[in-house]
Amino acid sequence: MLTTSPLLPEQALLRQKVPAGDYWLYPLYQGQTLRILDLEGNQAADTLFYRLDDTAERYSAMDTIREQGNIFLSTGTRLLSNRGNLMLTITADTCGRHDTLGGACATESNQIRYDLEKQTMHACRDSWLLAVSEHPEYGLTKRDITHNINFFMNVPVTAEGGLSFADGISAPGKYVELRAEMDLLVLLSNCPQLNNPCNGYNPTPVEMIIWEQISEESTADQGTTLLI
Ligand SMILES: [Zn+2]
Repeated sequence: MLTTSPLLPEQALLRQKVPAGDYWLYPLYQGQTLRILDLEGNQAADTLFYRLDDTAERYSAMDTIREQGNIFLSTGTRLLSNRGNLMLTITADTCGRHDTLGGACATESNQIRYDLEKQTMHACRDSWLLAVSEHPEYGLTKRDITHNINFFMNVPVTAEGGLSFADGISAPGKYVELRAEMDLLVLLSNCPQLNNPCNGYNPTPVEMIIWEQISEESTADQGTTLLI
C-alpha cells in the first residue's frame, strides 16, 4: 500500500547520503524511524538488519513472508527475525515494491547473470564484507551475511512462480520508512551494479534519514494513504 509520511527531514536527528558502491552501517534504536530515500530513482538498496546487542538474531525473509502470507514488502509489513521477533515495521512507502527474494549481487552471481568478464565488478556482497572487516566492534563476520531486503528493487513473480528482475519502478524522491521495534544495527549496501535494470544501469546515491521516537498522538491522522 502506498502511503506518505508526516515526518519532516528538517526535524530529523540525522541525514546522511550514501553514494552508490558504498555501505552504511549504523545503529537504529527502538522507536526511531529510518527513511531510505531514493534520490535519483531506480536505485536498489540491499539491506540487512541485526539485533544490536546480539547479532546472531537478524532479519529473516522466510519468517517475514510466512507470517504476512505475502512475498512483497510495503506499508504495514512487519519484518521478523530468525527468532520470530518483530524487528521493524514499514510505516510509509511511496514506491510500493521492495524485494526480499532476489538476494544481493555478488561477483559469482554476476558472472552467471551477465557475463564471465563481469567477475571483477564491484558487488553488494563486497561492500558488506568490507563493512564487516572495517567495523570489528560489532562482532559481525562473513557468516552473518544472509538473506536481505532489496529496497526499491522490482522482482515480479510470474503465475508459474518464476522470478525476473524487471525495470525499476522507483523514481526520484521515492522513499520507504521503517520504525525500529528493537535496538538494531542496519547494514546497507547501496548497489554498485551497472548491469541491473533495477539500478537503471546507472547507480546513484540514497539518503538515510533518522528521526527520534515520536508520540502516536503527534502523527495520528497526518499520514496520507495514496489511492492507486
Ligand atoms: Zn547489488
